[in-house]
Order: sequence, then C-alpha cells, then structure tokens
Amino acid sequence: MNDKHLTASELDLYVENELTAPARAEMEAHLATCATCRAQVAFDQEMSRALRVLPRQEPPRDLAARIDSAVQVRVAQDQLRRARMPFIFAATVFSALLLVWFGFQLAVAFQVNGTFDFVSLLTSRPDIFSTDSIDAIWALIDAVPIGEIVLTLFALFTVIVLAQQWVETIRPPSSHSGYTHAH
Ligand SMILES: [Zn+2]
Repeated sequence: MNDKHLTASELDLYVENELTAPARAEMEAHLATCATCRAQVAFDQEMSRALRVLPRQEPPRDLAARIDSAVQVRVAQDQLRRARMPFIFAATVFSALLLVWFGFQLAVAFQVNGTFDFVSLLTSRPDIFSTDSIDAIWALIDAVPIGEIVLTLFALFTVIVLAQQWVETIRPPSSHSGYTHAH
C-alpha cells in the first residue's frame, strides 16, 4: 500500500481518529514516506479544526437573545412614548394658552401705544422721516411693544415645538407595526 496515495475517505478516517490500530499503523507507514499525503492530512486537520471552531463563533442562541433585546428596547421606547404623551399634551395646551394670553397682551399694547395710528401717520406723511428722522425712528421704536412681541413669538415657537413632539408621540410607529399591534 506504500505506493498508493491515501483516498479521501481514508484521510477523513485518519483525521477524525476513527481507524483501527493496524489500519492506522499502515497509513502512518505511507505518510512517513509520502509528503503529498502528509500535506493532505495537515490540510484536512486544519479544516477540521476550523469547522469545530466555527459554530462557537455564531451560536444561534446569542442571535436570538440579541433580537429579543432589540425588541425589548423597542417595547420600552414605546412604553416611554406612551408615558410621555399626557405630559407633552399638557405642555402643548399650556403653551397654547400662553400664546393666546401673550397675543392678547400684544393686541392691548398695540392699542395703548397707538402703534397702528403711529404707523398710519408715518405712511400717510413720509416727510416726517426726512425732516426729523431720528426722532421719528425713536418714536416708532417707542410705539412698538417689543417685549410683548418677543413673548408672543417665544410662546408661538414653544407651541410649534411641543405640537411637533405631540404628533411624534401619538403617531403609530411604522417600522415595526406588526409587533406593536399584536399587543
Ligand atoms: Zn501518498
């Protein structure tokens, strides 16, 4: 048998150590003289080692656990969203009321300061600007209720931001609809 190379099944049995002692001794006698078969055995042993290591690198249980934890994160996010919903709604309503109040204050300030009267005076008599422009500009700044305008704009901005959050909270999540609807 020394002149014949080892077959694939013989190599397999040798690498997996499933040979009887005499058969093994016979193969080792050939391997001692044949570099080609020694190389083949070395290669098969390397492959066998690699295949034994491979399943441990990606155990399906780890994958399942990772999917499960990802789902749990999603569920927790949904619960957090639902828990935040009343607060965001209350904040939106409150800031909307503030906006109405500041808007009312602004209208009153326009009335008291006579802003519109002053503006209509300026537009009907543009010569005021050319003759005494600095005084006219100061008078205009005086007539404009800047504080009320800033507060109203701030309240408006707050309402917009909160309303966007509110819409974001009540909108059903689209990316994993099948899961949440099961609950
Ligand atoms: Zn050989």
